[in-house]
Amino acid sequence: MSKEPESSDVVATSQPPQDFEDDVGAQFYRAHLTQLEQALEHVPIEDHVRLVLSEPKNEVIVNFPVQMDDGDYELFTGYRIQHNNIMGPYKGGIRYHHDVTLDEVKALAALMSYKCALLEVPFGGAKGGIRMDGRKYNETEIESITRRFTHDLGNNIGPDYDIPAPDMGTNSQTMVWMMDTYMNMHSMIDKNAKRRIVTGKSLTSGGSRGREKATGQGVVYCIQEWANEKGVRLDGAKFILQGYGNVGSNTAQILNRLGAELTAVQDHTGSIHNPDGIYPRKLAQWVRENDGVAGYPGAEPIDDAGFWGVECDICIPAALELQIDADVAQRLDCQVVVEGANGPTTLEGDRVMEERDISVIPDIMANAGGVVVSYFEWVQNKRSETWQLQEVDDRLHYMMKRAYHEMRAFAREHNVDNRTAALSVAMERINGVYVERGIFP
Ligand code: NAD
Repeated sequence: MSKEPESSDVVATSQPPQDFEDDVGAQFYRAHLTQLEQALEHVPIEDHVRLVLSEPKNEVIVNFPVQMDDGDYELFTGYRIQHNNIMGPYKGGIRYHHDVTLDEVKALAALMSYKCALLEVPFGGAKGGIRMDGRKYNETEIESITRRFTHDLGNNIGPDYDIPAPDMGTNSQTMVWMMDTYMNMHSMIDKNAKRRIVTGKSLTSGGSRGREKATGQGVVYCIQEWANEKGVRLDGAKFILQGYGNVGSNTAQILNRLGAELTAVQDHTGSIHNPDGIYPRKLAQWVRENDGVAGYPGAEPIDDAGFWGVECDICIPAALELQIDADVAQRLDCQVVVEGANGPTTLEGDRVMEERDISVIPDIMANAGGVVVSYFEWVQNKRSETWQLQEVDDRLHYMMKRAYHEMRAFAREHNVDNRTAALSVAMERINGVYVERGIFP
């Protein structure tokens, strides 16, 4: 019998830290479960369906080594969490960020199940990620990490089984590397049929027109519906944004075309403010060249408290989770918060905004444009079709508007907030399928 290792026998590895009970991911997961509980008070969900939805179906964790450019090896931890697939193949983004944890990815995967059900996109929910600081690595190293991760996920993903997409820290290039690796791991005969293993690809490699801006476009469609309902003119309205990546920068440019003015932005490099307006396209170019908004010559720096307190009509968090807590919610000087990010609001933040009569368009509604156009990309790949941008935008508009009004109708009928309404509509749909199909055996 081998002896139990003494502490001095344990070899230190470069494994990332375990999930601690109180890290951001754990807090996010707990907040999500509480929000679900709140929604469950308003819809009759079968007990066995609650049980099924309370945990992801599959949790895939891979630890894999990659050789860096200096010859050294690093060990990475990658996750793919498959929450539910009763409505269709698992679907969800891949995140590269130093704060990625199992709990965070579990919460994000569950949100994808509810988002797809709310939008009536025939997919289930999944999410994946690698815990790493992408800024530490050069492009060839990121490519190696991506290809090795895809290889190690193996048949845990598949074009009709589980379809990744971009999220924080990843983009169309990351998706193309994943696609190419997956294609080369499988039969040569139907290689091209494997293109739809990922969505959010570049146009050159089989992506859809309109996918790059889709999440931002969807955020703006929601804002338009909110403005119509409230009688707010978007021409001349002011908005602030946290995050100026894919979601933030596209939202800003599209909203600005409707006449709305961007007056403050915050990202990982700092916060900037210009009460006379910031040009979204110029800022996007600055961010591409300088890796962040700090130093942008068309605005002044502002501190964190000042940023959240900037007077505006619309506040759009489009970065990380749990950003709008009770303090921030108390400081906000806006009419509506539109959640471009997933899970940006804490439970206390929600409570304070409700007390202060600030409307919230929740994540699973506001940022659903990305998964809707990902679905269009998947359908185009499957049928070998290429849709024009107008067709993509029209279909996206129709689906966002329909879901938005279903959420609002539920909120009015049950006198609940939009988050509870959106989750309730989604869960009612998933419950309906489970009740009809039953659980085998
Ligand atoms: P991205 O990587 O393109 O951009 C992320 C942005 O967040 C960057 O501007 C970065 O500077 C900022 N950021 C990072 N740390 C920050 C900090 N500590 N404080 C302030 N800002 C910080 O990511 P993205 O794809 O735009 O995703 C942003 C959010 O939108 C995430 O919550 C993601 O899950 C959600 N989302 C993305 C998509 C999509 O299609 N990309 C779809 C739905 C939801």
